[in-house]
Amino acid sequence: MKDTFKHKGMRQQLVTIVESKGIKDQQVLRAIGDIPRHLFMDSGFLDHAYQDKAFPIAADQTISQPYTVAFQTELLEVKPGDKILEIGTGSGYQTAVLCKLGAQVYTIERQNELFKKTSKFLPKLGFRPKKMIFGDGYIGLKEEAPFNGIIVTAGAPFVPKALLGQLAIGGRLVIPVGDDVQTMTLFVRKGNKEFEKHEFGEFRFVPLLEDKN
Ligand code: SAH
Repeated sequence: MKDTFKHKGMRQQLVTIVESKGIKDQQVLRAIGDIPRHLFMDSGFLDHAYQDKAFPIAADQTISQPYTVAFQTELLEVKPGDKILEIGTGSGYQTAVLCKLGAQVYTIERQNELFKKTSKFLPKLGFRPKKMIFGDGYIGLKEEAPFNGIIVTAGAPFVPKALLGQLAIGGRLVIPVGDDVQTMTLFVRKGNKEFEKHEFGEFRFVPLLEDKN
């Protein structure tokens, strides 16, 4: 597990690319510049780690494209100390970005293999989410609600009601909605039953699947 000057240099180029695509949040850009993405991928993909692309990880899943991670994180507007729920831990890269921003992170993964691997790996790099859960993200995490932010990192065929219900007032849900192609969607909770909805561009994610595996 090495992070060299070469990797750091490549990361700075990646930051420049992500910034040129429209990401403005300096904290988010700094997190991308700091986190050794190559360590989140299987060694065969080392050379690809700092391209702005999604890549395969274990269990037929993918590590999201850095631009997508940055875009979703920017929409979440994380402040230090915020309670954030992530659905789809995967490689843990997005989880690490949220930790870096000072959030208290709760993250759920439905694939047992990935769950086990990432739960061991993240603390080794110094990233400590509050809780990592093997479970089904469709139902959220009622016992820890309300959350200041919820981020779904898989394509949701519909917006799970449970997730909207677990937002604090003022809280933000960032979720890609759709089957083959997803529309990035932001819900802001304005009141008990009042939600503001904003839609952004199209993205492609692996699907949010029902139940755990
Ligand atoms: N945030 C991850 C993205 C991984 S891809 C990263 O940065 O690497 C999406 C992940 O969502 C996959 O690991 C997949 O297993 C997981 N997933 C799919 N459906 C889920 C569900 N219902 N609950 C929790 N995780 C789910």
